[in-house]
Amino acid sequence: MSSLPILIAGGGIGGLAAALALAQKGRRVHVLERAAEFGEIGYGIQMGPNVSRMLDRLGLLKSLEPHAVFPDALILADALDNRELTRITLGDSFLQRYQYRYFVIHRRDLHGGILEACRQREEITLEASRGVAGFEERGNAVVARCENGAEYEGAALIGADGLWSPTRAAIVGDGVPRVSGHVTYRGVVPTEEIIDRGQLNSMTIWVGPDLHLVQYRLRGGAVMNNVATVSSRRFRRGEKEFGGPDELDEVFSRTDPRVRDRLRYISRDRNWVLHDREPATNWTRGRATLLGDAAHPTLQYLAQGACMAIEDGVVLAEKIAAAGEDCNRAFLAYQRERMNRTARVVLSSRFFGAYFHVDAGTRELRNELARGRDPENPWEIDWLYRGIEVDGRL
Ligand SMILES: Cc1cc2nc3c(=O)[nH]c(=O)nc-3n(C[C@H](O)[C@H](O)[C@H](O)COP(=O)(O)OP(=O)(O)OC[C@H]3O[C@@H](n4cnc5c(N)ncnc54)[C@H](O)[C@@H]3O)c2cc1C
Repeated sequence: MSSLPILIAGGGIGGLAAALALAQKGRRVHVLERAAEFGEIGYGIQMGPNVSRMLDRLGLLKSLEPHAVFPDALILADALDNRELTRITLGDSFLQRYQYRYFVIHRRDLHGGILEACRQREEITLEASRGVAGFEERGNAVVARCENGAEYEGAALIGADGLWSPTRAAIVGDGVPRVSGHVTYRGVVPTEEIIDRGQLNSMTIWVGPDLHLVQYRLRGGAVMNNVATVSSRRFRRGEKEFGGPDELDEVFSRTDPRVRDRLRYISRDRNWVLHDREPATNWTRGRATLLGDAAHPTLQYLAQGACMAIEDGVVLAEKIAAAGEDCNRAFLAYQRERMNRTARVVLSSRFFGAYFHVDAGTRELRNELARGRDPENPWEIDWLYRGIEVDGRL
């Protein structure tokens, strides 16, 4: 086995999960992170049972559980009249079906938990303030070149450097990500500030024309995570400036007052213009490959971007362990296994975005379809939540 470490560009959720998975297979890993510190932004994230399974495999599930909240149900409600349309119950039958639970967690707690586990492993070294600018193959090694001129030699390079990945630019070269025109605002407030407490134990999504709003509790229920998204009409009209707080208010002005009032929990200081990419048919070159948002950035409508990044890391480690020194073979096997599933997430997420945001004319049809669902049978996402086989076992 090469004495060189595997280099990972990017110490986000995906990069660190891959580092941990590789270390557990006995590989040395060096993680190069562009930011001055390893960390995450302070909002919530949803974790499907498919990723609970992966976190269990990585030995992380037990230590994350005290930070997690396990809602009773995923509720879909109409933002125009505040009525529930359907739900996925997350009780015994859900657990029986998937063996693992759905949970929500503060991103800092998730990232911090993976980071702590990485710090415990002697196979893993972590270096901040090291943005990877490019790479080249030299003999049996790959050399990552950093923005500050430093060079690192590795047995392979994994680009886990997110949406704007320079590693992707070098491997795939498909330009900048696609702007969806969807703009998200977020806010976390103490739960005691929440006025309408009807759905406290659920993850609720209110959907309406060009908008949706998500609410769920974090940190043992102490704080409420709030996410409001608009699909910008100004963007569709080709205007350069779009998705500002004025457009947020304008789009939500048609919603039920109890829904609109929830915007009080949203911070207007910052927003996220959402991007994705067309699914790629290759993301590997020689001794380098991609993972997570660098490989298959997705809109958030299935809440699976980070889940896919973690699954990627576990599969990648499995393929590297199986292929020994032949990193290229491992990477090709890895992408073969991951490509369809992640492409399906990207494309289905776009569909769910459109389904949530239908206009008033199509609303009744959407609502009728939603009301006809069986709350005990989440068929739309069954393929996703059932999870993946790794090392020959589910
Ligand atoms: C509003 C919103 C809600 C979401 N909700 C969910 C959810 O509920 N569930 C879910 O699973 N997913 C969700 N996602 C998606 C999820 O956030 C991403 O898919 C996930 O964070 C991707 O992880 P990553 O490690 O691939 O990339 P990132 O998290 O982007 O991490 C990349 C890391 O690489 C570093 N970096 C960047 N460039 C370089 C470089 N050149 N060299 C070295 N380091 C570099 C960055 O600093 C960062 O630390 C959501 C996304 C959004 C926008």
